Amino acid sequence: MRHLVTGGSGFIGSHLIDGLMADRAAQVICIDNFQTGSKANVAHWLEHPRFELIRHDVIEPLRIEVDRVWHLACPASPIHYQVNPISTIKTNMLGTLNMLGLAKRCGARFLLASTSEVYGDPLVSPQSETYLGNVNCTGPRACYDEGKRIAEALTFDYHRVHGLEVRVARIFNTYGPRMAINDGRVVTSFIHQALRSEPLTVYGDGSQTRSFCYVDDLVAGLLALMDSGCLQPVNLGNPVEISVAELAQRIIARLNPHLTVSHHPLPVDDPRQRRPDISRAEHELGWMPKVPLEEGVARMVAALRVQEAIPSAEPEMAVVT
Ligand code: NAD
Ligand code: UDP
Ligand code: UDP
Repeated sequence: MRHLVTGGSGFIGSHLIDGLMADRAAQVICIDNFQTGSKANVAHWLEHPRFELIRHDVIEPLRIEVDRVWHLACPASPIHYQVNPISTIKTNMLGTLNMLGLAKRCGARFLLASTSEVYGDPLVSPQSETYLGNVNCTGPRACYDEGKRIAEALTFDYHRVHGLEVRVARIFNTYGPRMAINDGRVVTSFIHQALRSEPLTVYGDGSQTRSFCYVDDLVAGLLALMDSGCLQPVNLGNPVEISVAELAQRIIARLNPHLTVSHHPLPVDDPRQRRPDISRAEHELGWMPKVPLEEGVARMVAALRVQEAIPSAEPEMAVVT
C-alpha cells in the first residue's frame, strides 16, 4: 500500500506517518513545503527504505503513483494561516484540487483533513455533522474556514462526478508533542509560558470554550476513517469541553502554582464555543478518544523537556504512559 501524506512534516501529519509506518507493508511518501512543518518531525524516518520526503507545494501539480492520499497540507494555527491569507486560500483550493486530480488519476482513496472551523462561530452545541455552520466569509478567518469549506465541496464533487472514494475528517482542536513552538495555539502557548515562568496569555475573558483531543487519539480516528466505508464527513475530537480560563488554571496548577494570567484582546471572529458531537464516529468507526487532558498535557510537557532539555525545576507532573 503506497500512502501519500501531504503536510506530513507538520504536527498531525508526522504522527500520522508514525502510525502508517508501523504497518510493515506500507510505503509512505511525505510531501511538504515546510511553511509551518519541520524536517525534524520526520527525521527519524529519513533513512528508512519505506519512507520518502519530497519538498513540494501542493498548489503545483504533482505526478506520483499512490493508493491512498492523506491530504493534510495547510497551516492550521490562526497566526500562521493569517500571515498570508491568499496563500492559505490557494493551498485549500488549488492544493486540494491537485490532490483530488492525482487521486482520481491513480484510482486512490482520498482523505481530507477538514476542520471544526467549517462550523464557524456555532449557534448550536455540541456541533454535529448535520449543522451547516455560522461562518463569516469576509473576516480574517475566512481564508481558513471558507477555504476548508471549498475543499470539502470539491472533495464531494469529485465523489459525485468521478466516483472518487473520499473520506472527510472534521478535526477539532488537537494538541501534543511536535506542535510548533511559535504557532500561538493555546495549549502550546500556555505550556511554553508556564515552563518559562511567564504569565499565561488569555484572550478576552477566557469564557470561550474548546474541546482538546490528544494527537494519538486523533491519529487512531484518521486511520479508522480511511479504512471505513463512511462517505459522510465525520467529526473527530474529544467531547470534553473546557473554557480557556479553566485551561489556564489547570496548567498553572499542574506546572507552576505561582503563575498569573494576563488578559489580551479577543481575536476577531474567535468562536465562542466548540464541542464535537462524536456519535457518528462512535457508530461508524467504533472510535472514541481515550487520553484525558491532564495526561495529554503531561505527555506533551515530558516530550518538550526532552526536546529542549528544560530542567524540571517546577513541580513535576506525573507522566502516565
Ligand atoms: P501544521 O501547520 O503543523 O501542519 C501543516 C503542514 O502542512 C505543515 O508541515 C506545512 O508546512 C504543510 N503545508 C502547508 N501548506 C502547504 C502547501 N501549500 N504545500 C505543501 N505543504 C504545505 O498543522 P497541523 O495541526 O498538523 O494540521 C494538519 C491538518 O489538520 C491541516 O490541514 C489542518 O487544517 C487540520 N486541522 C488541524 C487541527 C488541529 O487542531 N491541529 C484542527 C483542525 C484541522
Ligand atoms: N493533477 C495533479 N496530478 C495528477 C493529476 C492531476 O496534480 O496526477 C492536477 C491537475 O494538474 C489539475 C487538477 O489536478 O490541475 C485536477 O485534475 P483533473 O484531471 O481532475 O481535472 P482537469 O485537469 O481535467 O481539469
Ligand atoms: N487563546 C488564548 N491565548 C493564547 C492563544 C489562544 O486565550 O495564547 C484562545 C483563542 O482566542 C481561542 C482559543 O484559545 O479562543 C483556542 O485558540 P487556538 O488558536 O488554539 O485555536 P482555534 O482558535 O483555532 O480554535
